[in-house]
Amino acid sequence: MKVVRQIVEKLCVIITIILIYENALVFYQHLFPYWWFNGLYGRFFFSLIVGHWLLINTVRHYYLAISKSPGFVVDLKKEPSTQEVLNYTKCLKCNVMRPPRAHHCKICQKCVLRFDHHCPWINNCVGYRNHAHFLLFCIYMAMIAAFSTIVGQRQFQLVIFHDEVLFGLFDPLLKTYNMTVAIIEHKTIGPITGVLTLFLFILNLVAMGLVLSLTLWQMSLITKGQTCVEEKIDKAIMTNSKQRRQYDLGWKQNWKTFFEVNTYSELLVRLLIPYSFQPKHDGTQWISKNDK
Ligand SMILES: [Zn+2]
Ligand SMILES: [Zn+2]
Repeated sequence: MKVVRQIVEKLCVIITIILIYENALVFYQHLFPYWWFNGLYGRFFFSLIVGHWLLINTVRHYYLAISKSPGFVVDLKKEPSTQEVLNYTKCLKCNVMRPPRAHHCKICQKCVLRFDHHCPWINNCVGYRNHAHFLLFCIYMAMIAAFSTIVGQRQFQLVIFHDEVLFGLFDPLLKTYNMTVAIIEHKTIGPITGVLTLFLFILNLVAMGLVLSLTLWQMSLITKGQTCVEEKIDKAIMTNSKQRRQYDLGWKQNWKTFFEVNTYSELLVRLLIPYSFQPKHDGTQWISKNDK
């Protein structure tokens, strides 16, 4: 069972890498040459800059979300003080004393600091130390899928349907035979490129929908100062409103806490530049709304 899960997780990572790669492929193989050779220089340079900025951010944050430790409790260097230990609980599965917001990951068999969930798409846990990279990867992945679909839409239609008409975009999908003829008869693009473009276009639409819904869900949780686990626990057992959403300090403060920033300029740098975050804390102490 464990082996099957490991194979599935590796496959998920390969699929994600293919999705990122195909976005680059759409631009390099289809869009850039088309715009350049048809004299659409404005569109060419705009997409060259924006497209590469999205691509670099997507790749970098994906790499960091995969490669960074989410923050395992066993790796904590410092011993908690007597005062801190009062808030700790013992994990019955791995027997460590864990700080507030740390939970056990059944797959990694370890407790993780501010544990969110175990994500097969990064083959890693999402926890305190890599959560920001995971969220930024989701945001940039959704943006790059949307960008290449929207910016390249006219070209997609030209290749796939031999037509630039916006409406009736999906009509030819219902008439496979006609669609194939349109691709083969196209003067500049061969049938393989046509089918590949159609495949990429559909893949992009699906990826955009899936990643966007995951991103919005993650963002709604962060706005509430919750992790996935805390949301589940709240729904399952917490009936007392004081105990619910313990770490919700208001949406602005929740986002500042999540990215560990104090000013908007710091936040902008974090959002726009793909560098590796060094957490400012050890992830063991959290301000609850009851402490205020
Ligand atoms: Zn544990
Ligand atoms: Zn895990």
